[in-house]
Amino acid sequence: MDKLAVFGNPIAHSLSPLIHMDFAKQENRAIEYDRILVTESFEQEAQHFFSLDSARGCNITVPCKLDAFNFVTELTDRAKIAGAVNTIKKTANGFIGDNTDGFGFFTDLQRLNCPLAQSSILIIGAGGASRGILPSLLASSAQVKQIFIVNRSLNKAQDIVNSMVALGLTTHEQLKALSFEQLNDSSLDPSLAFKADVVINATSLSLTKELPNISEQILANSKFVYDLYYTKEQETVFTKHCKALGVKESYDGLGMLVGQAALSYKLWFDFMPNLEQTMDYMRSILAKK
Ligand code: NDP
Repeated sequence: MDKLAVFGNPIAHSLSPLIHMDFAKQENRAIEYDRILVTESFEQEAQHFFSLDSARGCNITVPCKLDAFNFVTELTDRAKIAGAVNTIKKTANGFIGDNTDGFGFFTDLQRLNCPLAQSSILIIGAGGASRGILPSLLASSAQVKQIFIVNRSLNKAQDIVNSMVALGLTTHEQLKALSFEQLNDSSLDPSLAFKADVVINATSLSLTKELPNISEQILANSKFVYDLYYTKEQETVFTKHCKALGVKESYDGLGMLVGQAALSYKLWFDFMPNLEQTMDYMRSILAKK
């Protein structure tokens, strides 16, 4: 039986095993998919796992995506651009590292009919997930007008902007880094009097039920908000807050989770699962939890 696993810390809450077991059911494949808690060295845990002949590949979540990036012997372009690896496939000669977060995110925005064409997008957060999703927005044929990244550590947002510009994916006019102060106080720069059509929460704040420091006016003026975090209620503290401010469309990241998992599964088994089918299954599981 093919063996797979997800590595991270914490990991007990991970829904990846349920998702991948459902994918495998779709093609009548028998797989085993474990959760592996990484307390010390990702490399050691990964070597141990892959020493089994049946180990095909793995997923990697917070905080091991950079360790996984350094562990693999070959990187896909997506992983190189994101600077992080969330999927590994074992090959005859080594390990391929990929990043499927951008695909999962963008596929979910399309499913939800997110109004991207000529839109201004605000991304809150400049961690690994933010790096993973940005290229998919920049490459979109929807021709996004502008993207702003706001982050507590401004230098991390600036690093992302500089690396995306250096890769030729965008320009300094299209992609800008901001501090929370610059964003909320338009008197600092009146040209930024903010009207973001789409707001993406890519921080880990929802995990601790905290809200990012974004003025209510900016959120209330947006048309569509998306939180990468997900809950069994399919509402996060952020999406609830935006709904209360009158935002009509607000979604959590369950669809992204299923989408990124699907592309991982395709990389391992060359089979693209049906996303809607697994979304329905996950909704039914979460409703019972
Ligand atoms: P990282 O740890 O790499 O980044 C965390 C981000 O949150 C950073 O921008 C950090 O800012 C910010 N942040 C954390 N605490 C605070 C705070 N107190 N105040 C302000 N900003 C804060 O995590 P990831 O980027 O990997 O993940 C981010 C979120 O996306 C998580 O909730 C994760 O679960 C979710 N995710 C969902 C996926 C899905 O498939 N649905 C896939 C991947 C991620 P700073 O840089 O200043 O520290």
